[in-house]
Amino acid sequence: MTLLTPDQAAFEVSVDVAIVGGGGCGLSAALAAHQAGAEVLVLERDPSTLGTTAMSTGLIPAAGSRLQKAASIDDSPSQFANDILAKAKGQTDLDVVAALAVESAATVDWLADCGVPLSLVDSFLYPGHTAMRMHGTPNRTGAELMGSLSQATERAHIGVLTEATVTDLFADNNGRIHGVRCRRPDGSHEDVGCGALILACCGFAGNAQMLSEYIPEIVAAEFFGHPGNKGDAIRWGRELGAAIEDIHSYQGHGGLAAGYGIPILWPVIMEGGFQVNADGKRFSDESKGYSEQAVEVVAQPGHVAWTLYDERLHQLMQEFDDYRDAIEAKAIRNAATVPELCEALGLPSAAVEATFAEVAHATTQQESDSFGRRFAKRSPLSAPFYGVKVAGALFHTQGGLVVDRFGQVKRQDGTLLPNLFAGGGAARGVSGPSCWGYLAGNGLLTATTFGRLAGTAAAKLTQD
Ligand SMILES: Cc1cc2nc3c(=O)[nH]c(=O)nc-3n(C[C@H](O)[C@H](O)[C@H](O)COP(=O)(O)OP(=O)(O)OC[C@H]3O[C@@H](n4cnc5c(N)ncnc54)[C@H](O)[C@@H]3O)c2cc1C
Repeated sequence: MTLLTPDQAAFEVSVDVAIVGGGGCGLSAALAAHQAGAEVLVLERDPSTLGTTAMSTGLIPAAGSRLQKAASIDDSPSQFANDILAKAKGQTDLDVVAALAVESAATVDWLADCGVPLSLVDSFLYPGHTAMRMHGTPNRTGAELMGSLSQATERAHIGVLTEATVTDLFADNNGRIHGVRCRRPDGSHEDVGCGALILACCGFAGNAQMLSEYIPEIVAAEFFGHPGNKGDAIRWGRELGAAIEDIHSYQGHGGLAAGYGIPILWPVIMEGGFQVNADGKRFSDESKGYSEQAVEVVAQPGHVAWTLYDERLHQLMQEFDDYRDAIEAKAIRNAATVPELCEALGLPSAAVEATFAEVAHATTQQESDSFGRRFAKRSPLSAPFYGVKVAGALFHTQGGLVVDRFGQVKRQDGTLLPNLFAGGGAARGVSGPSCWGYLAGNGLLTATTFGRLAGTAAAKLTQD
């Protein structure tokens, strides 16, 4: 895979805007570019348009959306931007954060207008968010999100070529993209010309070699992302002289049901649950965030932990399709007493009982515990009790091509490449340089909003 010169191309077809990757970013970009009057073609390596997005919970954060207003939620783009920056410790692009926060509500409203059935998630706050601003589909799944985006794309008669892996870009000496080459399942190649190109092919979580080079700390975790994301955008970007930042950054998860591959989502922790290791002891402040908790879990004996909680939290979690799947898969255990639960989970009963007592004390006293965690002001956990064995997981990478506020890719000297855009996991995210900066929702915020903005800007560029 490399860059080819335009005279090496045999363009069979040419479009205004070509898009590499048909996940959340790619289809958002396609819809926006189409609405802005461009002829669009999405090239997707898989037989269908799913990506990491379809594996996700599909929750999209936005500040000032119609749904928030209808629910009288007090929020603003600046409050949202401050939350993103606080989580990333300010170590990201402030202009891009501000632009995404401002545009987030327009994106969510627009997705709803495109037919995505969104509602406001108002039952809990994710770590680091100061307002209820997550928007999700009825069963809170990325599969539903991708289903509605695919239907909207079909209704608009937007061209989507599946089983088309883009292998090469045709670029001139100025870095202008003239088209792409894609490989078809029978080994043949097709060349597609374009006026502008959007890279929506996510990051490098599916590339073991790049992972061990850039993020060795997460190699021992379970990979629960999309295997087709091989880091192509980063490799092409390098050859084009694009700026690349935050290459060590990623979205982890400290709660993948071990052996089942089902994420046990973080509301269970934020509302009072906690994790112990095989010794029955807690080992971190779980409420800091699920992403950074992945490395904490990986560092425990056997690279596993157990999430422990009670009936109230069990009921709360039923909102999520993933959790209902975990129940059906029999990943969740419950018992009337802590010793019985420990027997079911294979944990040392005395140590776990002591840990429950410490957590109850911290909850009722509203004191920070020895890890610095302050438990939510709720009643202490009470019988019956629940538990699930979890592994640390890698979801997707967050480093990528540096873009401006419209998703246009920058060179290392800060100037813009003439007609190249990126969004979602292909672009530098807003999570800073490591795993601790990932604020829940950063993934789909950058996928959908950069998708929408890049699609609109790319279409405009081809019409100027
Ligand atoms: C379990 C899980 C839960 C999550 N929950 C949330 C959540 O609730 N909220 C949130 O904000 N984020 C969440 N995320 C993160 C979120 O899913 C990602 O940030 C987002 O889906 C990235 O979108 P994308 O379009 O950039 O990439 P993807 O959806 O991965 O799409 C990229 C597409 O590009 C294709 N592709 C790659 N290379 C090529 C090539 N060379 N040629 C052609 N096609 C190519 C791939 O096949 C893929 O279909 C979650 C992730 C996981 C794994």
